[in-house]
Amino acid sequence: MAKDRSELLRQIPSVDEVLKSPSGQKWLKNYPRLFVLKGIRESIALFREEIKEGKRREFSSEELYSYIDQSIKGLSSLSLRPVINATGVVIHTNLGRAPLHKGAIDNIFRVSEGYSNLEYNLEEGKRGKRYDHIKEILKELTGAEDAIVVNNNAAAVLLCLSALARGKEVVVSRGELVEIGGSFRVPDVMLQSGAILHEVGTTNKTHLKDYASAINDNTALFLKVHQSNYRIIGFTEDVPIEKLTELGRLHGIPVMYDLGSGCFADLSVYGIRDEPVVKDIVNKGVDIVTFSGDKLLGGPQAGIILGRKQYIDRISPHPLTRAVRIDKLTLSALEYTLSVYADMDRAIKEIPVLKMLLQDTGIIKKRAERIVRGLKKILPPDFTITVEQDKSQAGGGSLPGISLQTYVVCLRHPSISATQIERTLRNTEPPVISRIKEDVVLLDARTIRDGELKTLLNVVKSAFQQFFA
Ligand SMILES: *Cc1c(COP(=O)(O)O)cnc(C)c1O
Repeated sequence: MAKDRSELLRQIPSVDEVLKSPSGQKWLKNYPRLFVLKGIRESIALFREEIKEGKRREFSSEELYSYIDQSIKGLSSLSLRPVINATGVVIHTNLGRAPLHKGAIDNIFRVSEGYSNLEYNLEEGKRGKRYDHIKEILKELTGAEDAIVVNNNAAAVLLCLSALARGKEVVVSRGELVEIGGSFRVPDVMLQSGAILHEVGTTNKTHLKDYASAINDNTALFLKVHQSNYRIIGFTEDVPIEKLTELGRLHGIPVMYDLGSGCFADLSVYGIRDEPVVKDIVNKGVDIVTFSGDKLLGGPQAGIILGRKQYIDRISPHPLTRAVRIDKLTLSALEYTLSVYADMDRAIKEIPVLKMLLQDTGIIKKRAERIVRGLKKILPPDFTITVEQDKSQAGGGSLPGISLQTYVVCLRHPSISATQIERTLRNTEPPVISRIKEDVVLLDARTIRDGELKTLLNVVKSAFQQFFA
């Protein structure tokens, strides 16, 4: 037995031998040497290991070379790449949140291919501010006195608390001490900023008098946080923002509202209630408003801070502003996205996130039917492929409790399990991300773009060929 293994080990070529082989020479011509070497070394090491452990009982040089080939290709391909989102979750944080408007992408290219006036005032021929590029449009769209943008909304909240409330108390309702996916927790951000959390009320009920009785000499801020990813229902009460700003004004305490999603469009027209419109919140006298660029706004990752000039003037020079500053690629995409909102009808029709959220179910159904027709042509007849009604979600902590009527393509097979189908779809190029419900694989037609249909069918076709070879 041991002798068998050493015999097998002797058959494995050395790295040098592989490099000198015709395949080795071809790899060196087509891929970076770094990846070729790594691919060969790792594959050889793996084969040796498997032989030593008795997992590999014969050696095939063909198998080794094909393994190396895959490995080099894997190492040479870029890791971050496009996927087809068939989950139906429109603002999918794991899948990059908001897809960008084509114009925003073009603008990134226009601004970043060469130099730009990022921090250069063209009129005066001297140093300018990067924030000036979006200040006026944000003021115009929201009615705010002033604005600044940073890396993301978590940074925006941290920055505002640090600049306005370090060493001082911030009053927050216990019903709003939320955790937003993973690592953003209001109490933790508060701690990080150096502000002191002063909790008021209870989980389900907070009254105006709770805020009022929390006021002391060290109170710096009232903070309201949009509950984003959950809702408290039943015996509940929270303080309307206009009441809180009234109380704040009375006592000279600024009010900050972390809106989370930050929607510019009035979605109530479309039956989606509960999501405040940024402009209305500013209008209600809130002193500082923060929200994300890549949730319901449908732009790039960014944190937008709107507010009274006196507060933005305190926030801008803070050292953290420099640490969490927005880069030019994001800024160019954001400016373009904001410019689309200058015409709200256009925004509703063109901003991908809004388009997907508000699209007519008839259109989604037609798209699902097109996919079914396509799949039936390429998959063997033992697949059951149907269109069914289902619900999709906004995602990204936006619009919880609202499920959107949608149509999904259901994929079933008598001997290939749902998990296997899901995995196969996920390992195509581009990967297709689906969801499983009650042991059936669902492709939600809401988030599949029309331009992706052909690619989707092509990758499904080649992916399932392995099962029917
Ligand atoms: C999403 C969210 C955040 C974090 O925003 P990012 O842009 O992801 O950093 C903060 N607060 C609320 C209420 C949110 O919904």
